[in-house]
Amino acid sequence: MSSIPTTQTAATVPKLGGGVKFVYDYPVPQPGHNEVLAKVLYSGVCQSDLHTQAGVASNSAGNPITKVKLPHVGGHEGVGRIVAIGPGCDDDIRLGTFVGIRFASRICRRCEFCLAGKEQHCIKSTNHLHHEDGSFQEYIALDAGYLTILPDDIDPAVIGPVLCAGLTTYKAVKNANIKAGDWVVVVGSGGGLGHLAVQYARAQGAIVIGIDGGAAKGDFCKEIGASEYIDFTTTPNLVEKVHNLTSGGANAVIVAAASVKAFQQAADMLKVGGTLSCVGIPAEKGYLLTPISAIVIKGLHITGNLVGSLKECLEAVDLVRRGVVKPKISIRPFEDLPKIYDELEKGDVSGRVVLKIAKNE
Ligand SMILES: [Zn+2]
Ligand SMILES: [Zn+2]
Repeated sequence: MSSIPTTQTAATVPKLGGGVKFVYDYPVPQPGHNEVLAKVLYSGVCQSDLHTQAGVASNSAGNPITKVKLPHVGGHEGVGRIVAIGPGCDDDIRLGTFVGIRFASRICRRCEFCLAGKEQHCIKSTNHLHHEDGSFQEYIALDAGYLTILPDDIDPAVIGPVLCAGLTTYKAVKNANIKAGDWVVVVGSGGGLGHLAVQYARAQGAIVIGIDGGAAKGDFCKEIGASEYIDFTTTPNLVEKVHNLTSGGANAVIVAAASVKAFQQAADMLKVGGTLSCVGIPAEKGYLLTPISAIVIKGLHITGNLVGSLKECLEAVDLVRRGVVKPKISIRPFEDLPKIYDELEKGDVSGRVVLKIAKNE
């Protein structure tokens, strides 16, 4: 194990909306009581990182989240290795173990949501986006009592995106109660979230219709298991198209695109008893345009999916580890982060971008 430096490289955002500034003498945190220090190997780049650093991420009321620790250090799809163990940790925590750096960082373990296994909604939780520095730095201190301990035989670059995008879409598929042979529409099927939603839905036996823009995304969606592809840039009436393909509507629609427009008509694609699973969070305040009469008369279900629990995360990881779901990643240097934000803004990214954070591993 190489020695631990006192300073490190971090991608900081001194002021929301002011852009990324790389700092080369950012302090390496000391692991406190019941904490471990992890060396960050890889980190996915999530749409929420893009929105948070720009100051446009929405809270539950649809207003911008402005209470963010500054300087902000994003990254909540990181995989690292434990390099130091602080005082008071359990004996079974070992140096060298792979750990995940996820959205949720600390939880109370006592509130009704923690007790119900929905600790991502913990009333006292903190996260690696708004409260604590995330994985866009070389070293990170993690709560040893809520560690995401990953299996030894994973590929750390591939697992990064599973920790947020994978978990969220796994949860969305789970909440949609899909059975083998059900029709599932994934809106935004070529993106970081969407391409995983397609595969998790396929893993449940669904027949998947992907919706995205352009022929290249269409090829990609077919490659990862979509049976049908609808190009929204050339299809005037998406709802009608879905009803034609499915002979009457889909059993579930998973919206993984972070645009209000993508959500507005999505529930109209459902058949009786169908489920709308909302995943992406648009930057602007938006509303579904589903008539109340449609929800009542067709008995529709509407679910939201904010990541998932640690247990569900490990289930999502296991499907990747066993090769059932294959995240499509492109590995880029850490310093490319500002460029990647530009590409995500333009919607140019197929699959997920993963930053190589540690230089010498
Ligand atoms: Zn995320
Ligand atoms: Zn709690």
